[in-house]
Amino acid sequence: MTANPYAWLESALTTIHRADWYRSVQAIEGRSGAVVQIAGQPVLNFGSNDYLGLAGDDRLIQAALAATQAYGTGSTGSRLVSGQRALHEQLEQAIASLKQTEAALVFSSGYLANLGTVSALVGKRDLILSDQYNHSSLKQGAVLSGATVLNYAHCDVVQLQQLLEQHRERHRRCLLLTDSVFSMDGDLCPLPELLALAETFDAMLLVDEAHATGVLGTTGAGCVEHFGCTGRAIVQVGTLSKALGSLGGYVAGSATLIDYLRNRAAGFIYTTGLSPADTAAALAAVTIVQQDPDRRAQLWQNVTQLKQALQPLSQQLTATTDTAITLLPSESPILCLQVGSPAIVLHLGTLLRQAGIFAPAIRPPTVPTSRLRLTLMATHECKHLQQFTTALSQAMQVRWDG
Ligand code: PMP
Repeated sequence: MTANPYAWLESALTTIHRADWYRSVQAIEGRSGAVVQIAGQPVLNFGSNDYLGLAGDDRLIQAALAATQAYGTGSTGSRLVSGQRALHEQLEQAIASLKQTEAALVFSSGYLANLGTVSALVGKRDLILSDQYNHSSLKQGAVLSGATVLNYAHCDVVQLQQLLEQHRERHRRCLLLTDSVFSMDGDLCPLPELLALAETFDAMLLVDEAHATGVLGTTGAGCVEHFGCTGRAIVQVGTLSKALGSLGGYVAGSATLIDYLRNRAAGFIYTTGLSPADTAAALAAVTIVQQDPDRRAQLWQNVTQLKQALQPLSQQLTATTDTAITLLPSESPILCLQVGSPAIVLHLGTLLRQAGIFAPAIRPPTVPTSRLRLTLMATHECKHLQQFTTALSQAMQVRWDG
């Protein structure tokens, strides 16, 4: 008998296709920026996490080149064995200085930082309370930890308090998990309320600052700074791959926390250290975040301008076309236009692409409702934003039932 133990893969893929959940990839050509190329065509980029436009910045590129010349391409080992370079320590000091924490630890990705930190902080005897919209890396870290995991409704601090009252006492340690900027909606967690509950119920609070670092707060330190919670007992996790334009992740907090994670976080211990090029690029980016607040100001000016245009436009288009279009509440550079069904949002994405605009259509099961998810960059120009609103108006005039 020649049984094929992989035969089920074909039918699993067929099921994914039937549900309209199949995902394919497309290559972005040329250097990262507000305008990129896809399949040889220039397109306006509203789908990048490069909020400050640093991934294509000459200063980061030069830093990466110099580090590669000095150290080579790979870090060649785990940090605790042979992968540590002086650059890693410099980056950790720079992150701790940006966040105003005692220390920081750099991981090879933000995903690993969350997996490693959550699973090191709690175990079987413990309780995790997690916002239902949290990023996959927090959810998977929670599963990996073996702790009891309870989800609370998105940003619902009343429900969170009830869950704490009901369950906290029966567990040894308790960890509250939240994104600070929710990546598929662009809204913010209610940080001061979460912190107050954490203090009342003797719980740890972990905040994922992936989309906030470099973006929110007067100095770009993130949501913690934005809410005036700098210096409080919070475990801050984040990525080097969004506003910082590189690759990698970090945890920032007390020196004791970082010392413990260095010894206990499997996602730090058993993986190769971040490459010299990525480390140096991130270090250059943190310096720019600290020294060039105008870049952040430009990003927020762009957010305000596009929001002001989209608010009335979405209402007008809902009234004049067959399709309801709603700008979801956001306090970040992530602006989402909720648009009818998955088929309609895909069609709209295609029409925008034909008009030279890359605006990703995000559908269930990734999000509860279909939407165009726009991300703004400091390097978008006024004319780019106008080009987007014009193209959206024109695309919305097309009937979907054709
Ligand atoms: N947390 C959030 C909220 C994210 O959006 C992401 C990336 N999509 C991550 C963590 C993971 O970061 P990285 O890409 O560095 O693995």
